[in-house]
Amino acid sequence: MTRDTLRIAVTGVTGRMGKNLVLSVREAGYALVGGTSRAESPIADVRIVGDLSELISDVDAVIDFTHVSTVVRHAEIVSEARVAWVLGTTGLSAADQAAVEVASERTAVVQAANFSPGVTLVERLARQMGAALPAETYDVEIVEMHHRQKVDAPSGTALSIGAAVAAGRGFMLDAVREPAREGHCGARSTGGIGFAALRGGQIVGEHTALFTSAREQIGLTHRAFDRRVFSDGAVMAAAWAAKQAAGLYSMEHVLGLI
Ligand code: NAD
Repeated sequence: MTRDTLRIAVTGVTGRMGKNLVLSVREAGYALVGGTSRAESPIADVRIVGDLSELISDVDAVIDFTHVSTVVRHAEIVSEARVAWVLGTTGLSAADQAAVEVASERTAVVQAANFSPGVTLVERLARQMGAALPAETYDVEIVEMHHRQKVDAPSGTALSIGAAVAAGRGFMLDAVREPAREGHCGARSTGGIGFAALRGGQIVGEHTALFTSAREQIGLTHRAFDRRVFSDGAVMAAAWAAKQAAGLYSMEHVLGLI
């Protein structure tokens, strides 16, 4: 497949991410076949349809930054058509995630809570730090800040970084996640991984993993300045996924790290 022939649909094409994806797809030289949207306002030169099924027979890859309510439907459509699916939507329930995994048995799916190369490396480093810095000595807290419109908390990226630390320590995140703190909530647990979500203004996305012992603190910080870092990464993932066998992949696969 050459650069010119890759045909892409963008779901949620009128959204904050969707608009950046239009720019990223076109700058990469790929064909933007169209997109879906719930919004009234059109985007110049983009074909907008009501449902992904109207575009699926004309595309090689779907890039999906939409709303969690669309995940199960989109999973059915991409798996039926065996079209590569780059899924960036966050806030999935266990049932949504199960639908993604079923789809990945029939087609290539790249799923990431964050498509920036920098965050992909932060997650890898977080896993190494989790393995190297003992849970009995180093308390881990993940602090994130996003724009005031964000609807889910903690962010999908914060949860991924927490899951990476937990994996480094040999646990699933759910087994060591600290409950949200409010009021007289008691002391933190040893080995727990805590989260704090801040919201305000138009911040694109900031994440810090803090490893704090009685004697030192190490902070691992990523700041996204521009959504293009996510949309360029998602387009790279689409080009990669269109050539892969069925399976569930991450940005670490796309970047050749695993
Ligand atoms: P947004 O609200 O600006 O845009 C959402 C888009 O989806 C709009 O075009 C809207 O019309 C469309 N939409 C919503 N519900 C729909 C429905 N039921 N059917 C069809 N279209 C529908 O949101 P955003 O900031 O662009 O974020 C979208 C998603 O991507 C969120 O889940 C967000 O957390 C996630 N996100 C992921 C990354 C990443 O790198 N993985 C980065 C940024 C945002």
